[in-house]
Amino acid sequence: MQPDQQPPVPVLDLSRQYAAVGDEITRAVADVCAAGRFILGREVGQLEAEIAARTGATQAVGCASGTDALWLAMAALNIGEGDAVVTTPFSFFATVSSILRAGARPVLADIDPASFNLSAGAVEEAAAADPTIRAVMPVHLYGQCADWDALAPVAQQHNLLLIEDAAQAFGATWNGVGAGALGDAAAFSFYPTKNLSAWGDAGLTTFRDAAAAEHAQSLRAHGMRRRYYHDEVGWNSRLDTVQAAVLLVKLRYINQWNDDRSHVAARYAQLFLDAKLVGSVDDGGIVLPVADPRGTHVWHQYVIRTPRRDDLRTHLAAHGIGSEVYYPVPLHMQQALLDLGYREGQFPESERAAREVLALPIFPELREDEQLRVVEAIRSYFA
Ligand SMILES: *Cc1c(COP(=O)(O)O)cnc(C)c1O
Repeated sequence: MQPDQQPPVPVLDLSRQYAAVGDEITRAVADVCAAGRFILGREVGQLEAEIAARTGATQAVGCASGTDALWLAMAALNIGEGDAVVTTPFSFFATVSSILRAGARPVLADIDPASFNLSAGAVEEAAAADPTIRAVMPVHLYGQCADWDALAPVAQQHNLLLIEDAAQAFGATWNGVGAGALGDAAAFSFYPTKNLSAWGDAGLTTFRDAAAAEHAQSLRAHGMRRRYYHDEVGWNSRLDTVQAAVLLVKLRYINQWNDDRSHVAARYAQLFLDAKLVGSVDDGGIVLPVADPRGTHVWHQYVIRTPRRDDLRTHLAAHGIGSEVYYPVPLHMQQALLDLGYREGQFPESERAAREVLALPIFPELREDEQLRVVEAIRSYFA
């Protein structure tokens, strides 16, 4: 095969979504521009109401980014100075930096290797050892909800709030309950690469308690309920009306897009089985992602494991196949977080995942011929 004679298979291609719905979105954006309500215009409230209804949360509050949505969840629930929050070291940096931004102390607990999500047993151990822990922040990594059957009883027993980092999981469910309605609060990101994405930075927090949501509405606008009267020190973190308009259009398609992702994932699984590539990491083969039957996975990412990850990635790049590593360095080993006092070896499952995971191209418009090329390139590596 002459790899450079074929166009590359991108890890994500947003231009195909733009070709399908770009005109519709452009018209919605033009309406916002004509109305001139760029800050907290009508579309923001409409989006908040629609997302609350879809997820099953009591109320939703838009803000400037997923990172701010995490901070807003904690700030609105009065988590801060003197409190600790347990989360996973195998996530994007914002999971932990938002805890610091809220003034609280992050406590890390290892993951379950099958799902890559926070282990309830590890949370239990942490909570039993540290009475300052007030909340647990599980991340629904790669689009799959953390094991709520195991986490909720631990939270209840230790009287902890549950905050979902649902940045990668719009539309995911657990036992029929939507991500966003599982915990006391949940943060969504609409960063352009997320499965529901804006045309720039945007985020949203959902709440179970209406009073907490009202607190968040005040906090995202300088702690101001009445214009120029400040009840507390908040921040400027509003969701742009333009971004809300973009998201309102995309909300009409998100179920279809999540279904399409699920078909892409099922097709990968079949193609890998047909190619006899599935084994165990210890045999040097690849391990496919597992979708827990208690939930609906939205396949934000399709992540395989292999001990020869870096080498395989180089081989794929040479064949024009895009891939990505989420995430190469666990958070306790990040330079910026060394002050937390953890050391290498403390979270072996997270550290192993960071060495072995590889995200393959997945997006709703990915074609079967492209998937065949991805699998063929991986087969040729192992041949
Ligand atoms: C993307 C992401 C965030 C941060 O969202 P931004 O919108 O980029 O600020 C937080 N947590 C996780 C798990 C994410 O994937």
